[in-house]
Amino acid sequence: MLKNKVAIVTGGTRGIGFAVVKKFVENGAAVSVWGSRQETVDKALAQLKELYPDAKVSGKCPNLKDAAQVAETMAQVKEEFGAVDILVNNAGISQSTPLYNYTAEEFQKIVDLNITSVFNCAQAAAKIMKEQGGGVILNTSSMVSLYGQPSGCGYPASKFAVNGMTKSLARELGRDNIRVNAVAPGVTKTDMVAALPDEMIKPLIATIPLGRVGEPEDVANAFLFLASDMASYVTGEILSVDGAARS
Ligand code: NAD
Repeated sequence: MLKNKVAIVTGGTRGIGFAVVKKFVENGAAVSVWGSRQETVDKALAQLKELYPDAKVSGKCPNLKDAAQVAETMAQVKEEFGAVDILVNNAGISQSTPLYNYTAEEFQKIVDLNITSVFNCAQAAAKIMKEQGGGVILNTSSMVSLYGQPSGCGYPASKFAVNGMTKSLARELGRDNIRVNAVAPGVTKTDMVAALPDEMIKPLIATIPLGRVGEPEDVANAFLFLASDMASYVTGEILSVDGAARS
C-alpha cells in the first residue's frame, strides 16, 4: 500500500510509533525512524534489520523543539531517500499531575513536545511536500482529546491542540495536495500499559465496549489506511481507534 513512498515517524523507536514503522515497512515504504536518543534509535534499527533484512530504514534523533534542526534533518531524509511523502507526528509524553501540584515547567514540557514539535515537523515537511506536489501528514492524538481526563489537564489540552492543528492544516494545505489527519488511540498496550497489574487493567477493560485494550497494531492499521491512497479523499479527520471507550 505504500510502495515507493518515503515516511518519517517521530517517536518511532517503541510503542505505537514502532508498530507504525513496522506496518509501513511491511507495505513497501522507506522509513526514517526518529527517536529522542541515538541509542534507542540504533536499537530499533537493529530490530528492523533482523525482521526485514531488505528494508530501507534509517534513524535520526533531532531535537524536535528546535525548528532549524528539524528542517535540517528532514532535508537529510529527502537527500537520503529522494522524497518525504508521509510524516507521522507521533512522539509524545503524557502526565497525570493534579492541577494543584502542576508546575509551570511540567506544563511547558508537554507543550514543547506534544504541540511545538508537531508544528515544527509539519511546517518543515509541508515545505518539502508542496515542492514535490503533495504528501500526507498524520498526527497521533488521543481519546482524551475528545473528553479530557480527570487529572493532568496539560495532556488532553495538548491533544486538543493536535486536533486543532490537524483540522486547520487540512484546510490550509489541501490546495497543495497535502492531506492532514489524526489517529486518536484509546488505551493501547505499549510497555507502560502492558506493565500495569491485573487489578488496574480489569476495571479499565470493563469500560471498553470491545472488551479489551488496543494493541499497537490496531492503531498502526489506522495510520496505514490514512497514509495510503485508499484515503485519497480523507483529510481533516480525527479517527478514533479506541474500542468505543470514548468517555
Ligand atoms: P511510548 O512512551 O512507548 O513512546 C514514545 C515515543 O516518543 C518514543 O519513541 C520516544 O523516543 C519518543 N519521545 C519521547 N520523548 C521524546 C522527546 N523529547 N523527543 C523526541 N522523541 C521523544 O509512547 P506510546 O504510548 O507509544 O505513545 C505514542 C503516542 O501515542 C504519543 O503521542 C501518545 O500521546 C499517544 N497515545 C498513546 C496512548 C497509549 O495508551 N499508549 C493512548 C493515546 C495516545
